[in-house]
Amino acid sequence: MSNEERAKNFIRTFIDEDLASGRYAGVATRFPPEPNGYLHIGHAKSICLNFGLARDYRGRTNLRFDDTNPAKEEVEYVESIREDVRWLGFDWEDREFYASDYFEKLYECAEELIRRGFAYVCELSAEEVREYRGTLTKPGRDSPWRGRSVEENLDQFRRMRQGEFAEGAKFLRAKIDMASPNLNMRDPAIYRIKKSAHHRTGDKWLIYPMYDYAHCVSDAMEGITHSICTLEFEDHRPLYDWFLEVLNWPQPRPRQIEFARLNLEYTLMSKRKLLQLVSERRVDGWDDPRLPTMAAIRRRGFTPSSVRLFCERIGVAKKDSWIEMEWLEKAARDDLNPEVKRVMAVLDPVRVLITNFPEGEVKTISAPYFPDEPEKMGHRDLKMTREIFIERQDFMAEPTAGFRRLVPGGEARLRWSCYIKCVGFETDSSGRVTLIRCECRDEPFSGEAASKKRRPNIIHWVSAERSRPATVRLYERLFTVPRPGGDLDSELNPRSLTVMEDARLEDALDMPLPWERFQFERLGYFMVDPQSGAGKPLFNRIVTLKDSFSKGREKG
Ligand code: ATP
Ligand code: MG
Repeated sequence: MSNEERAKNFIRTFIDEDLASGRYAGVATRFPPEPNGYLHIGHAKSICLNFGLARDYRGRTNLRFDDTNPAKEEVEYVESIREDVRWLGFDWEDREFYASDYFEKLYECAEELIRRGFAYVCELSAEEVREYRGTLTKPGRDSPWRGRSVEENLDQFRRMRQGEFAEGAKFLRAKIDMASPNLNMRDPAIYRIKKSAHHRTGDKWLIYPMYDYAHCVSDAMEGITHSICTLEFEDHRPLYDWFLEVLNWPQPRPRQIEFARLNLEYTLMSKRKLLQLVSERRVDGWDDPRLPTMAAIRRRGFTPSSVRLFCERIGVAKKDSWIEMEWLEKAARDDLNPEVKRVMAVLDPVRVLITNFPEGEVKTISAPYFPDEPEKMGHRDLKMTREIFIERQDFMAEPTAGFRRLVPGGEARLRWSCYIKCVGFETDSSGRVTLIRCECRDEPFSGEAASKKRRPNIIHWVSAERSRPATVRLYERLFTVPRPGGDLDSELNPRSLTVMEDARLEDALDMPLPWERFQFERLGYFMVDPQSGAGKPLFNRIVTLKDSFSKGREKG
């Protein structure tokens, strides 16, 4: 077993132990997003993990919106999160929950903590709280409010709920240990006053529970067995267990397990930074195909199965690491390769006039959509005419050393068609090539070259008259540095988007539908943008091809 596979299984090992020991009778997980932004590929890892475990252990996964912070949360995000989870292929059935559903219960439990002497209302200011907390090397000091009686705490807490005090004036905190080596255990906050409306409970609440408290109680209420979260919560686990212990929560209680979050090179995963990219209009909305959001990945053309494949391959580890973007791209290629038709498109066309091809003639060539298995997707007709377009990059008037495509006096093979030899070219006043003159024949021009097995390169083409216009968007990395810190001015890649307005598609692609995917030979995998119009279709490049057929392969 490789390291990767072993790492992938450490959560499963825990679960197997817990089932074998009889701690739990089955598996229940949850995916708990905070609805304060759009989900990204890191969340996909968590979704695949949680739903995947439930699937494999015949358990269940709840979708729980962790909506304890009224200020930053919105219905728009709730809807996008639902769509993303569904798109990935997972189903939470009727188990859509909200931490806010539990506000009353969470409040009752907080009173119970007070009654048992495990919580008190503190009046230190934020700054004083910091001062009293101490540091990693210095123990904290007890708050002067720590000794309040149960009655006084209950009275204060109820008045907090009634809205008698200003935001920040008081807060409810756990009474644990101000000298604990774990800073999270130094009397952490449980409830704070916040006089903002909540997207679901409206004006009902003037106090809101803190994440660490709400999360474990919500998990316990839902009967979650394995509460899977990212590594930064490892130091919060004692607190997670403490709340359930002092509440005397019945067994079996949920078990928190941490795993390493996904970091993907050349992009950013933090919702806060993604929000900044969108709100500063550095990108074109949450679904700009350059972003790592699920909405963007979907719009760019990635399939749900390619995202699941990616998540499976990267596995689950206990140590933070950065994953190369190539992993995601490779998963997309492997997923799309057997599924999509091969067609020809020219992104940056230059006109070629074939002097010995009769004017007005249209030669029809039948070519398979999937050359490796011609029966699989059938054939289409290519139209060969006197004027064609080839890729500007496939011709060099003054070739550099090693350039192996079309050059003056040289030859090339047109995919599925004839050999052409360049007999001349025209340029405009700036030296830009405007027309290439060629002759064609069915056999290679240079018998000598052919006998040396140095076959001419194969290039793709479309008929000039019989092709259709299209717009094609090409993407590069969003950032120029592999591990961006978030300084947008210096780190954003100014060339992350290239729009090819003059692209041409072969005739057979007459009405491509939004969401349809193709391989454009030699260029990559592409999808018709969901907002593509009928007149001139708009394509997004999902990924480039690793190999082009002109290197090594000789079919066609
Ligand atoms: P961000 O830091 O981007 O705001 P978050 O952790 O605050 O993310 P939540 O909405 O709280 O976002 O996350 C929901 C779930 O997704 C959590 O269980 C969290 O652990 C998980 N998650 C978030 N980011 C990643 C990531 N990069 N890799 C794996 N899991 C993640
Ligand atoms: Mg969070």
